[in-house]
Amino acid sequence: MSDPTTDPSFSSFLEVEEKSPFPIQNLPYGIFSPPDSSTPRVGVAIGEHVLDLALLNAEGAFDHSVVADKRPFAQSSLNTFMSLGKPVWSTVRERVHTLLRADTPELRDDSGLREKVLHDRDTVTIHLPVEVGDYTDFYSSEHHARNVGTMFRGPENALKPNWKHLPVGYHGRASSVILSGDNVRRPCGQTRPDDDEPPVYGPTQLLDFELEVGFFTGPGNTREEPIPIENTADHIFGFCLVNDWSARDIQGWEYVPLGPFLGKSFATTISPWIVPTAALDPFRVPGPEQEPEPLDYLRDDGDWAFDVNLEVDLQTEGMDTAHTVCRSNFKHMYWTVRQQLAHHTVNGCNTKPGDLMASGTISGPTEDSYGSMLELSWRGENPVELPSGETRAFLEDGDRVILKGHAQGDGYRVGFGTAEGTVRPAIC
Ligand code: CA
Repeated sequence: MSDPTTDPSFSSFLEVEEKSPFPIQNLPYGIFSPPDSSTPRVGVAIGEHVLDLALLNAEGAFDHSVVADKRPFAQSSLNTFMSLGKPVWSTVRERVHTLLRADTPELRDDSGLREKVLHDRDTVTIHLPVEVGDYTDFYSSEHHARNVGTMFRGPENALKPNWKHLPVGYHGRASSVILSGDNVRRPCGQTRPDDDEPPVYGPTQLLDFELEVGFFTGPGNTREEPIPIENTADHIFGFCLVNDWSARDIQGWEYVPLGPFLGKSFATTISPWIVPTAALDPFRVPGPEQEPEPLDYLRDDGDWAFDVNLEVDLQTEGMDTAHTVCRSNFKHMYWTVRQQLAHHTVNGCNTKPGDLMASGTISGPTEDSYGSMLELSWRGENPVELPSGETRAFLEDGDRVILKGHAQGDGYRVGFGTAEGTVRPAIC
């Protein structure tokens, strides 16, 4: 049965431009406070507006008993809503879709209600949408893993023996997941720039971005009860853009033998609007062929890669506008999000509403699709040339990095908005 909420033939009574990231087929969730209140609540982005779900619920717009009882929208994070599960997410999404449709008079013709529950998006304050309990970062783009492996170990040993058998990942730091627009302080730390000299302390010289897409889990599993791969999609609430900022020199010195630590944990930027998994359904495509065939618990049916165009724009202090340095696509992931979640829980590890799982840097096959400065400048050997005449091997103070993403439909796009941040000078 086709899902009316992604049907391209429906439009909203609110005007939505063709290139808007937020048409009625998207309906992403976020946390905002309206101009006349400091109380954060759940909203849905539609065109240039935000729909206030907390007020709508208070007005009795949702007759679902769970939604009425648990008040998931009068919250300062999406976690409660995420905990309620897919049947409730679907019911809410269908109801919001109906309310915003051009052929539904209920909200369209009620100017008093419209006045209350619809805000201009540029007048509201946007907050971090999720109280992130745990953050896991995978390493699931083969192009990225091969590029980095080639740089440090040569093309023969680019992929470690485990890479094609399991989605490699590590436990990141949830406390430093920040909202798009928050600045990023260049981190200080210990590095060893000269192998023949002792390590030194100071600002990272090799600051980088990583172009990633993340998903949030909910309701999640209890401990000791893995999520079978066929059920994983019931626990994937939605997606956002992720910039997993990285200090390559700190990382390079510290990571043996336990993996990334302070080179990663200083900041991770996410986009504010969480795109529901249902909104990306029409953009599911086959992923890369997996050879060798994964073990049974990782064997997946159906198309679970997503055709989402991604780009990274860079603007230095000397530039008037940002310049695109990378064009990639979420479909380049070798391991699917379902395989990631099945693998994450197969040992009995529990996941909770609001856990963030990031893809790992999403690089494509071509040199202009590499998702980090490390790859774009090939370890600094070929600095990226910018229209201002400047070059960049890694990020410098004042550089603004903007991640963008959208899935292109026929006459509309399901967009992610942006995840951006500007590098501030170190204080060491
Ligand atoms: Ca990463």
